[in-house]
Amino acid sequence: MDRTMKNLKLVSLNGDDNRRTIVTVGNVKIGEDLVVIAGPCSVESEEQTVITAQKVKEAGANMLRGGAFKPRTSPYDFQGLGLRGLKILERAKRETGLPVVTEVIDPRDVSWVCEYADVLQIGARNMQNFSLLKEAGKVGKPVLLKRGMNSTLREWLNCAEYILAEGNPNVILCERGIRTFETYTRNTLDLSIVPSVREITHLPIIVDPSHGTGKVSLVAPMSLAAIAAGADGIMIEVHYHPGEALSDKDQAMSPVLFADLMKRLHVLNSQIKEMACNREHKSPEESW
Ligand code: PEP
Ligand code: MN
Repeated sequence: MDRTMKNLKLVSLNGDDNRRTIVTVGNVKIGEDLVVIAGPCSVESEEQTVITAQKVKEAGANMLRGGAFKPRTSPYDFQGLGLRGLKILERAKRETGLPVVTEVIDPRDVSWVCEYADVLQIGARNMQNFSLLKEAGKVGKPVLLKRGMNSTLREWLNCAEYILAEGNPNVILCERGIRTFETYTRNTLDLSIVPSVREITHLPIIVDPSHGTGKVSLVAPMSLAAIAAGADGIMIEVHYHPGEALSDKDQAMSPVLFADLMKRLHVLNSQIKEMACNREHKSPEESW
């Protein structure tokens, strides 16, 4: 292994032991099934969240996302509904059966947010909030750890190591774009991190092309590219009326666009599986 990664005792793939972590959430096995987490950037109202949840479920998503605590650049922007938002997510879960992924931004909130979340999200801005990582490591809930916008792979994996070192093995990594000199897109989605992560760690990795690009027109192509690169799933922002979203409206997919993406994802995923099957039956020279 790369010597700079030598302190990653728990997150590293070990020698010949190629076992990969599978994080089970409800009946979804992240690391084995194709996971599609979809839903609004922010929980805004019961109607908005429940209808969006029903639409993404109908289209084939297997988990629901939605922020009740929003880490916003400006203190004057919508900060999320807090507890009320979590109760709305609970309702949406009851209506659809979809497990809930929601962000926690304060270490003091971790234990009680766990009562509402099936997966705790630690956002890009908090990737290196070490007290938050330790608290998340102490609870049994799976953690979705987003890559910080200015973070290297080594820094990111060290943050996952913090969670595992506290006794929680259920970590899902999420690439969401990094800051570069490019300004056309909100961030630069670093898809080369997907096979890099798979070379170094046994943890599953998903990709968030919504924050990764900031532009709804780029979300579908980058979702397909993420799966082709080997990601275990994607996380997509969907809003029942994108133009009215209180946060991140430029990157929100409508339910119709999302349903179309789901169809294409399933075609691609079965082609990838078929290719993997064929490869097992061919010599290395024949396969690519
Ligand atoms: C989010 O997924 O709601 C979010 C705030 O994303 P990020 O932390 O990647 O900016
Ligand atoms: Mn968002």
